[in-house]
This record gives sequence, structure tokens and C-alpha cells, in this order.
Amino acid sequence: MKAEIIAVGTELLLGQIVNTNAQFLSQKLAELGIDVYFQTVVGDNPARLRQAIEIGRSRADLLVFTGGLGPTQDDLTKDVLADCLGRQLILHEPSMAVIERLFSSRGIPMVESNRRQALMLESSHPLENTAGLAVGNGVSEDGTLYLLLPGPPKEMKPMMEGAGSAWLREMQGELQPLYSRILKFAGIGESNLEAKLLDLIERQTDPTIAPYAKEGEVAIRVSTKAPSEGEANPKIDETVSQIRALAGEFLYAERDIPLEEQLIALLRLSRRKLASAESCSGGLFAELVTSVPGSSGEFAGGVVTYTNQMKHQLLGIPMSQLEGAGAAGAVSESTAALMAERVRLAADADFGVSLTGVAGPAESEGKPVGLVYAGIAERGQPTVVHTLNLSGDRTMIRLRAVKAVMYQLWLRLR
Ligand code: ATP
Ligand code: MG
Repeated sequence: MKAEIIAVGTELLLGQIVNTNAQFLSQKLAELGIDVYFQTVVGDNPARLRQAIEIGRSRADLLVFTGGLGPTQDDLTKDVLADCLGRQLILHEPSMAVIERLFSSRGIPMVESNRRQALMLESSHPLENTAGLAVGNGVSEDGTLYLLLPGPPKEMKPMMEGAGSAWLREMQGELQPLYSRILKFAGIGESNLEAKLLDLIERQTDPTIAPYAKEGEVAIRVSTKAPSEGEANPKIDETVSQIRALAGEFLYAERDIPLEEQLIALLRLSRRKLASAESCSGGLFAELVTSVPGSSGEFAGGVVTYTNQMKHQLLGIPMSQLEGAGAAGAVSESTAALMAERVRLAADADFGVSLTGVAGPAESEGKPVGLVYAGIAERGQPTVVHTLNLSGDRTMIRLRAVKAVMYQLWLRLR
């Protein structure tokens, strides 16, 4: 953060007093890790103070004012800043109460101008004055911070060391950019993943770990505020490795890409090709895989064999397997295996993937909604069929079935 100190007071310009506040403030700001680029002195003149503010905010992120918070007519720092920012001045009640109490304890009537010391900019942060009456102010607008401190060193110093520094530290944290990494998971639902990570999520405040649901996928955002990416990355790496230790078998990417994209990338790396035969998913597997640019190198093609007739004609699955007394049926482990094997052979691919099941809303072949068989045939390997029991409406069941078989394939390839 770049700062400019603006000392306000004609007596400074006349050489009647030395600008010792600037020296003190420069030291304190350096301690906070804030670079002071400019020190300005301006008289008690609204037009020139306004000019100093305009120039200051064009070249610094933080303007630290000292002086001009008092009760008299030449104390105009708050008025001019409020005017510049288009904000009202409002009464800070606790400061007003202190001022009133002081006057009544002395048994003298309060002069109206003393109210001015209890004024602050609207929507700003009041800074308690432990050694005097004028309330200080922390203002944040449009990425620029304004810190208003009194002129008398015995008031300015404790305010800077106390409430002023605390506010600056808080704002430094808020102004730091947020760095995030998205982790993508498959093969696990959002609530199960959250349960696995619950301890970590609750224990940890920085970086924060926030799950969020995506269509048919689960994502987690790991975020931290830091001055630079170089300082954020080690913190994020550390958290990611803790997450990996708890749920690594479901973590397929450390950036926001869909599972199909990662799958294509892995197939490309291992120089292998894929083909699909789909029933209940109606081509959604092929649709998602081909939505990855350049996937023609890894995806040979797919068929949608929706009716038994098509399963028979295109894939050569015997009708006796599909229907009739004692047949396993279209929605069965053995049909899923045959579909995967036949499409792999037809495409001369390394992998054949199949999906056959009941997407609903009504059951079929006496089999329940959500039951899906996902087959994976691999060259030179025994064919494996995964039995899925999926929940959701028709659309969700189809999407979840596709992502589930992609996940099984990813487990083999990773
Ligand atoms: P007050 O309530 O006393 O009017 P103020 O916040 O309005 O406080 P000024 O009126 O600008 O501040 O200055 C009050 C006194 O504080 C000055 O007369 C001077 O003694 C001291 N002072 C102000 N600015 C500085 C500075 N930059 N360096 C050192 N002393 C200063
Ligand atoms: Mg004054």
C-alpha cells in the first residue's frame, strides 16, 4: 500500500511549528509495512486542501491527515473531505457524550462549535480520542483509504498507535487480493465430501475452505488473502495437501474443469481411445466428451442404442439376452458388459463404455428408477460393470450416471 501524509495547518507553512507529526507517522506506517511515498503540508484553506486530496488520491492508496479536527472555523479537514467524497457529516454520539460531560463537570456552558469535534463522515469508522475531544475517522472509498487524525501530538500519537493502526491493519487485510484455487471432485456427493472434510473446514479460517455445488459435480474453493500470489500459493498448497489426504481418491483436478476434460487429457497422455454405447443416457456421455475441444483424438465415437432392436442390430446383442422369458433384460449387468465390449470392438478403441438403466420417472422391466449399470471394457482386461443406484429426477439421473462412469474411467487412468 502506498501512503501520503497530509499535514494540515497554516502555522506549519508559516514556520511557526515543525511538522514532527509527519516524522512520527512515517515511522508508524513503515512499521505497518505501508510505504510512504509523499508528505504534503497544506494550509487551513478549503480549496487548497481539496486540491491536496485530489492529488493525493491520484497517487496513493492511503491518505493520512493530521490536524484540523478541532472545534474552530479553521478546522476543516472533515468538512472538505466529506465534500470531496459527497458524504454527510454525522454526529458520533459517544464522543458527543464525552464532550457534554466534560463541560457540565466544569460547570460551564458548552459552546456550540464544540459539537464539531464529535462529527464524523457517514459510513465511516470512528477512532476514539483517548487524550482529547475530537473523534478521528477511518474512511474507505473506491479503493482509497483516508485516515483522519488530530493535530496535537499528544492526541495524534495515541490515536495512531491504538485505533488508527488497528483500523489500518484491518483494512490492509481487506484490501489484499483474494487468491483462490478450485478443487473438483467426482465419485462423491457434496454432503459426503463435506462430512469427510468437516473437521478441517471448521478448524480452518485461513485459507478458507468453501464447498459449492455445480451441475452434477462437486467443487471446493480454497481461498486466502495475501499481498501476492507468491505468498498465497504456499498457504493454499498446504491446505490442498490436507484435503488430498482426506479425499484424494475423489479429487480429479485443481482447477475448474469438468471431469470429461480431465478424462480426455489423461487419455491423450496415455495415447488411448474411447467409444461409448448408451441407452438411458441418450448420448449425454458422447455430448459431454465431444464438448471438450480436440477430443476427436481420444473419442472414436458413440452409439445411442435406445431400443432393444437397436442394441441387437447395431451391437449384435442377442434378442434372447434382452427380452423374453428368463432374459437378463436391457437393464442388466450382462447387457451393460456386452454393450461396452461390442462398441469397443466396433470402434477398435482401447476402452468401451456403456450405460443402461432406468432414468425414470417410471420403472422399467420391473427395475427401480435410478438403477443404472455402467460397463467399462478395456483392451486385454476383464470387463467391469458398476451398479449405480442414483437419486434425482430424470435429468439428474442421466447426468449422474454419465459422471459416475467417467469417474470410474478416471480412477483407472490417473
Ligand atoms: P485542535 O483541537 O487543537 O484545534 P486540530 O486537530 O484542529 O486540534 P490543529 O488545529 O491543526 O489540529 O493543530 C493544533 C496544534 O497541534 C497546533 O497548534 C500544533 O501545536 C499541533 N500540530 C498540528 N499539526 C502538527 C504537526 N504536523 N506537527 C506537529 N505539531 C502539530
Ligand atoms: Mg485546530
